[in-house]
Formats: sequence, C-alpha cells, structure tokens
Amino acid sequence: MSSEEFRRHGKALIDWIADYWDTVADRPILPDVNPGDIRAMLPDHAPEAPEPFEQVMADLDRVVLPGVTHWQSPGWFAYFPANASFPAILGELAAAGLAQQGMLWQTSPATTEIESAVLDWLVDLMGLPTSWKTSEGPGGGVLQMSASDSTHTAIAVARMGAAGRADPSSMVVYTSQQAHSSIEKGARVAGVGHVRSIECDEVYAMRPEALEAAIVADRADGLEPMLVSASIGTTGTTAVDPVGPIGEIAHRHGLWFHVDAAYAGSAMICAEFRHHLSGIELADSYTFNPHKWLLTNFDCSVFWVADRRTLIESLSILPPYLRNTASETGEVIDYRDWHVPLGRRFRALKLWFVLRSYGAEGLRDHIRRHVALAQQLTARVKESPVLHLVAPTTFGLVSFAHVDGPEATRALGATINASGWAHVTMSALDDEPYIRVSIGSTLTERRHVDRLWELIASSV
Ligand code: PLP
Repeated sequence: MSSEEFRRHGKALIDWIADYWDTVADRPILPDVNPGDIRAMLPDHAPEAPEPFEQVMADLDRVVLPGVTHWQSPGWFAYFPANASFPAILGELAAAGLAQQGMLWQTSPATTEIESAVLDWLVDLMGLPTSWKTSEGPGGGVLQMSASDSTHTAIAVARMGAAGRADPSSMVVYTSQQAHSSIEKGARVAGVGHVRSIECDEVYAMRPEALEAAIVADRADGLEPMLVSASIGTTGTTAVDPVGPIGEIAHRHGLWFHVDAAYAGSAMICAEFRHHLSGIELADSYTFNPHKWLLTNFDCSVFWVADRRTLIESLSILPPYLRNTASETGEVIDYRDWHVPLGRRFRALKLWFVLRSYGAEGLRDHIRRHVALAQQLTARVKESPVLHLVAPTTFGLVSFAHVDGPEATRALGATINASGWAHVTMSALDDEPYIRVSIGSTLTERRHVDRLWELIASSV
C-alpha cells in the first residue's frame, strides 16, 4: 500500500468508525450469531494473492459487525464499562502509526517519558501519594495491559521478596470473598500455595478483624502470610474494603499490601470519592484501569508501586544485547524491568490524548454524570414496592433484585436483555441472583437510563 493509498483508505476508515459511533445506539447490543458462524465466513486459507483494500474494508461490515457485541452502546449496562472516546482512538492510531517498541528508554525515549509524566499527572489528579510519582519517588507508575497483569506482577514481586524466608508452597495470599478472580489467578501463576478469602461485612467489605485472625492462625500453623489485596470497588457490588485498617494489619505482620481499584479508581479524579482512599499511603502497590471508566479504550491499566527499586530488582535481567549507555547512566527508566514482557507499545499516547482533550474538568464531568444517573436509578429502585437494593450504590453500579425472589429477578434480567437495546449482567450474592446495572458507557445519557427504568417499571 502506497502512502497515497494509505491516506485514502485511512480517511475512509475514520469515516467508517465515526459512522459506527453515530449508529451504535440503534444496533442490537448482542450479535445474533452461533459459535462458528463468523469463522464460517472466512476462507480456510490465507489469500495467496494480495486483495484490494476496499475488499478488506468491506468485510468490516460483512464479517466483523455481525459478530460484534456493542460495548459502546449507550444501553450498555453490563459488567463494567469499557470506555472509549475519539481522542483515545486517535491516540491508538498515532501509536500504531509510530510503531514504537519502548522496552528501553533508548529504544523510544518519548514512549517512556510521556508514560511516566502522564502517570505522575494522574497521581496529582487523583490525590494519591506523591511519593508514587516517578519524578519524586521512591515509587513510580507503569502502564500494563490489564489490572490482572498489575495484580499478578504485585504478587510475583512480593513472592520473590519473601522467597528467602519460606517456600512458595507455604505462602498465603489474603483477599476478600468479594475480590476479583485475578487475585487468585495471580497467586496460582506465582506458585503461591494458599489463598484465603476473608469474610465480608453486611456491605460486602472485608472484615479487618477476620483478616488478622486468619494471618495469626496461618502463622501458628507454620505457613508464611505474604500479601493482602484489598479492593476499592469490588466487581460484584463496588464494595470498598477499609484500606487503612487492612494496610495497618498488613504492615504489622510484614505483608505486601496491594490495592485493586480496577473500576472505581477512575472516580478518584473527583475529590468527593477520595475518602475511600484513606490509608492508601500504606499500599505497596495499586492498580486502576483507565480502560474501564476513564474514556481510554482497552488496553490501559495503571500500576503504581510505592518503591520502584523492589519491582526493578525483582524483574531486571540484563543480557548483553540489551546493554546500552543510557541505561548504564542509571538516569533513565527502562520499563522492560517494570513488568513481565520485554517489548512494549506506546500505550501512554492515547491516555495523554484523553487527559489533554477532556482536561481534568471534562473527566470529572464524565464520572459525575454517571454517578448522578446511578443515584437517580437507586432512588427509583428504593421507591419501588417490588424491587430492593442488595448493596449500596457507591459509584456507577446499581445492584438490585425483585422482592418475589430468584425467579422474578432472573425473569426481569432476561426481559431487560431481550429488549436488545439495553444489556445488564446478572450476578449472585449468597446464591441469591441480582441484577447489576452498571452506568458508565461514554454515550450513556439520562434519557437512556430513563428508558431503562421505563422498561423495568413496565416489566415488574
Ligand atoms: N479487579 C476488579 C475489581 C475488576 O472488576 C476487574 C474486572 O472487571 C479486574 C480486576 C480485572 O480487570 P482486567 O480485565 O483489566 O484484568
């Protein structure tokens, strides 16, 4: 493809994406396909001869769109949002166009320095400890693909730190019964022997006294308590674990303290949510996902550590082919030492585009708009004689069930999803099903939540 053709097709593709966003609200959210349908539209072998690019583009409509779930629909209330925005999409395109490989400072100084600057900005914007800024230290931030990667890295680094004291099979990771499965997966990946799911209170937050009792009991049994992971915004109900008390217990017993704020971390851009961070200065590591609720398309997960030396010392391996003068000065960041992969793309560019295009004000509006809609829906659920909240609404998630029990709740969830234009996720607490309405899509406005409520009210 010549640069002239690239310009032509590029314009057509941007038009295609803009058309997609203009029409996504009118599309049924779930694709009407069976397993294998999309693959059946593809030939068995890659083409031997080059195909005209117009034909490739045409297959976006013919092959791809029929098999796409419309996460960007304003009626998307399922899981958590996976925000995207035009500035982020353009940042992604620019990153692909520059095609950088930023494993070392030397292999792409801009990839490294824009990333560390943008993550330092976020520390200030979100009221996090300034010692997490790479420019101040001893902490620092790095972008990972996902919160799972951030958590797995934290567990692996903590495990390496504890390796001199005990065998990994005797190590224990603690988290709450409501924590995301990535904690358990990270423990498995790191070869940690035990994971304890600590009991929660009536609002599904970890009970610190149960945590401490478990640590003491495990130590008495000859095990090696190694890491505690607290959640700010659990997946099920956005419960917030008491970060300060849990951090104090972790420190008193010499455990690594990780905080998973994958979804709710974006809300910290608004000062009124920062009381949930109380005690965060005790954290050894923290993760949140701009790719959930901060207008930056997947993948973009921030991972901060309170002391970057521990991370770097655990992950740095220096073969002769990676030696270079910039690294030897000790004055540069080589992000390859901050995560598992060696190679890394220019992920920060889209986040930089988003922060500059919306400004902190625009991002606060984005969060507050959704939280206000969630509060409005919560008030309606509370007033309804046939619905009840199953957990407090703390951010953009409303969790509720039908008073008539599991069957009625499941039927209501099915009715909402059968509408085609609204989509929710069902979950369960103590084996009782409930409906999660997660308000946070980039395009979701009051009228969409009003329409959802009309559907709910007319179906119960
Ligand atoms: N932690 C929490 C609390 C989550 O809700 C999620 C996903 O929803 C994750 C971690 C995993 O995020 P990721 O898909 O970025 O690995």
